[in-house]
Amino acid sequence: MFDVEKIREDFPILSREISGRPLIYLDNGATSQTPKCVVDHIADTYYRVNANVHRGVHTLSQEATDAHEAARRRVQQFIGAGSSSEVIFTRGTTEAINLVASSFGDEFLHDGDEIILTVMEHHANIVPWQLLQRRRNIKLRVVPIDERGDLNVDTYKSLFNGHTRLVGVAHVSNVLGTINPVREMIAYAHAQGVPVLVDGAQAVPHLRVNVQELDADFYVFSAHKVYGPTGIGVLYGKEKWLDAMPPYQGGGEMIAHVDFSGTTFGELPFKFEAGTPDYVGTSAFATALDYVDHIGLESIAAHENELLRYTTDRLQDIEGMRIFGTSEHKSSVISFLVDGIHHYDMGMLLDKLGVAVRTGHHCAQPLMTSLGIEGTVRASFAAYNTKAEAEAFVAAVKRVVQMFR
Ligand SMILES: *Cc1c(COP(=O)(O)O)cnc(C)c1O
Repeated sequence: MFDVEKIREDFPILSREISGRPLIYLDNGATSQTPKCVVDHIADTYYRVNANVHRGVHTLSQEATDAHEAARRRVQQFIGAGSSSEVIFTRGTTEAINLVASSFGDEFLHDGDEIILTVMEHHANIVPWQLLQRRRNIKLRVVPIDERGDLNVDTYKSLFNGHTRLVGVAHVSNVLGTINPVREMIAYAHAQGVPVLVDGAQAVPHLRVNVQELDADFYVFSAHKVYGPTGIGVLYGKEKWLDAMPPYQGGGEMIAHVDFSGTTFGELPFKFEAGTPDYVGTSAFATALDYVDHIGLESIAAHENELLRYTTDRLQDIEGMRIFGTSEHKSSVISFLVDGIHHYDMGMLLDKLGVAVRTGHHCAQPLMTSLGIEGTVRASFAAYNTKAEAEAFVAAVKRVVQMFR
């Protein structure tokens, strides 16, 4: 049984007041709040287990190593990866994509090659490829969207040619909420012999993801958007790619043998994890995944979808309301503007009413440009949001609108 009031008890921050009003946290697309079990896990690790991993013979180091590697297997299981050595820990989605752009880019991309991206990508899946363009004369081709915020799949298919080497696509848009048909897109790319990187930052918190069923070549996401700690992310990569890719950074942990006449690199996954990893964060992340599974991702998604439908319906009653992203396949994000009210003013005034939303371009400026706007107000839901909060949010938006009328 999904009991939202009981879930809320796990998140002490939700009892905060903002400007004398109860906090209504609707900025989950930027970061989700952290349950007590995860914070306790972090404290407990520092109080009882803390030691550097992998090289120690002493008990604490072995316990820390065991917890870190158990976390890797937990992530493997959570996303349905074939092997835990295909799970690379990074600082987040951003670092994971930079790793692929740098390492895959160096090995497999040459002058004249092309990458297909979509217009709804987060800057994290655009700028790393542009940085690569400083070293390689590669072309970025962009899939557009229709008026509902769905990708134009015919155009996607038409962008492939003999130079296409990679596709990069968000599983779920952080602005529109669109759930892209990544399985079909991957199947099509594979039929052309092209691998696919999926940015799953907005998908993993809301959808059951199985990287093997999707047949994704790379799948990336961040722990802090799935009730986990900040500073941890995951790069899943098929072994055949990761094996063929050069290291991203050099240092300790990632080597087999170092000599000034030459160094040999460690096996996967360590080849891509130079330096001391955030072993406190990784094991706390495993606790977050346990937490999610304990509630049930399907129950969380059903609850969020109810809030999405309810809130969308109520917002549409407001005169001058424009909602960006009305796909039939949509996750729990609502981006909107009200005619005559700047998104920044709306966000500031909502904050005064206790409501935390995100405003601006949401790190998706090319999407904003294609929509002909500069930014939106974005409300995004998580497991702990309630219908009462959704009602209060709609009432707060109406109050702000009245101030301007
Ligand atoms: C948040 C987000 C990112 C970036 O994640 P970081 O944790 O900041 O690295 C990338 N892509 C999408 C779709 C996102 O929502």
